[in-house]
Amino acid sequence: MKHLLPELHYAPDALAPGMSRETIEFHHGKHLQAYIDNLNRLIAGTQYEDMSLEDIVMKSGGAVFNNAAQAWNHTFFFDTLTPVPVPMPERLVRKLDEAFGSRENFLGEFAKAATGLFGSGWAWLAEDKDGRLSIVQKQNAGNPMTDGMTPLMTVDVWEHAYYIDYRNRRADYVSACLKLTDWEKVAQRLV
Ligand code: MN
Repeated sequence: MKHLLPELHYAPDALAPGMSRETIEFHHGKHLQAYIDNLNRLIAGTQYEDMSLEDIVMKSGGAVFNNAAQAWNHTFFFDTLTPVPVPMPERLVRKLDEAFGSRENFLGEFAKAATGLFGSGWAWLAEDKDGRLSIVQKQNAGNPMTDGMTPLMTVDVWEHAYYIDYRNRRADYVSACLKLTDWEKVAQRLV
């Protein structure tokens, strides 16, 4: 099965100024495309060839995992962004209150985790098997699915995600991502 670049559900300039058209063109059009091209090349003729992207993430290691997980993570990240600000549904607010004390505390703790993640990686909001929410920092291509958790939303903190628009100001980029997050979609992912 050949994996294809997922289409964005918004125009490439729709997230500006939080995320510019140029960033989308490089990040989605070049970085994500490269992970997908690498993945297709790596899995040809192997046990992974006919697996879904999620199965490859769960079952592989090494370069196959790195490229598959980067493809999955980016697809999820871009899908969760929206040009139209979406209020947090009550159901999600209640779960965040439970886990973090308040929605504001969650946003602060998430921003701190994303901004403070050392090197390249992803900050996640994830739900465990008991329905508890937590913030998870993952290096490189890491994804909380491999720990048995359900990803609810994520922010990519690889430098390629923010250097065009924000240079070294990762905190400003993270804050923009939180404003561009479709919280309705996040709530729909609650198990
Ligand atoms: Mn990226």
